[in-house]
Amino acid sequence: MNDKDYKSCSSCFFSEKFPGVVIEKNGRCNFCNHGDFKARKERQTTLDITELHRIAEELKKERKGKYDCIIGASGGLDSSYVIYIARKILQLNPLVIKYDHGFNYSLAASNLETICKQLGIDFKIVQSSKKYDLKYIRSMVLALRDLDVYWGICGFCHYILLAVVYKYALEENISTIFYSGNLYQSRLYLRRDFKLKFMLRNLRKLNIAKLARLVFYMMIAQYYFVRLKLEFYVPPLSNILRSRVKMRENIKLLNVTRYVRWDIDEMVKAMEEEMGWRKPREPKLPMRFDCKIEDSLINHTYTKAVGLTVQGIICNNLIYDGIRTKSKLRDTVQKYNDDVVQEMRQMLSDLKLDYKEK
Ligand SMILES: [Zn+2]
Repeated sequence: MNDKDYKSCSSCFFSEKFPGVVIEKNGRCNFCNHGDFKARKERQTTLDITELHRIAEELKKERKGKYDCIIGASGGLDSSYVIYIARKILQLNPLVIKYDHGFNYSLAASNLETICKQLGIDFKIVQSSKKYDLKYIRSMVLALRDLDVYWGICGFCHYILLAVVYKYALEENISTIFYSGNLYQSRLYLRRDFKLKFMLRNLRKLNIAKLARLVFYMMIAQYYFVRLKLEFYVPPLSNILRSRVKMRENIKLLNVTRYVRWDIDEMVKAMEEEMGWRKPREPKLPMRFDCKIEDSLINHTYTKAVGLTVQGIICNNLIYDGIRTKSKLRDTVQKYNDDVVQEMRQMLSDLKLDYKEK
């Protein structure tokens, strides 16, 4: 079936190609008609900023080293805003860590430099000295390219990014990691069992030689990933086998979004006007623009499987929250869809692999 043959929702970007979506009698999908996005967002910020100020005062009092807290940041909207809150609102002295896996856009990196310099914050950029991250991604692409499904390709966000922050927290004797939760980006509605089924369907089409190739490169990829974990090793030893890093109990995680409402427009305004932070040129979204892996491999997989990019799904959440309309976001969604092929071509060229049109 062609993507256009699926019934699509009149008020968001879902079509019935997306598993779980039903277009109901009024022409809107079940998410638009009965979704609970707004309620969930209300539940996300349940505490008051005064409570956060109280915690900040405690952190200042109990500080053991040079810094009050640590923040893992990319220079995208969310992490930049966490820095802004920590420094400008709470008057803390944070250490900012950027794990640079080599697949970030330069705009995010320059944003981070701008705001840290302006706020007089120490920041460190951490890279793998032997480029194990690049070798890992390259091997994963070689493993998965016949399958043409790249879900789960990247272990950086779930493991390395946090491990690097954790490692510096231990080294600098910092007790608290500040982070954020952006519901627009974290709610993507695609269930794991669908992803697995989609992957298995493609797996069945592979002949024995291609299967052997997949297993071979997958093993090489895992080797590089373990090397990466060892390079940024944090105890306990069992972390080497984990897909999410386990932290010692004396390091606390503080989700800033529980105390401060994650209002995208207000955040962008504050960051642009006060921090010299820049968003990408419209129609692109002011968030989720830092990672080339997502815009190429992940979006390639999403559009093939469900007809929409990750940012397309994020646009739906903006609609469900009532802060944007479909007509306002149409160009944005189209732009992300249109860019997938070019992003894929660029990614494969960066990895020194040829691009095969499928
Ligand atoms: Zn809808």
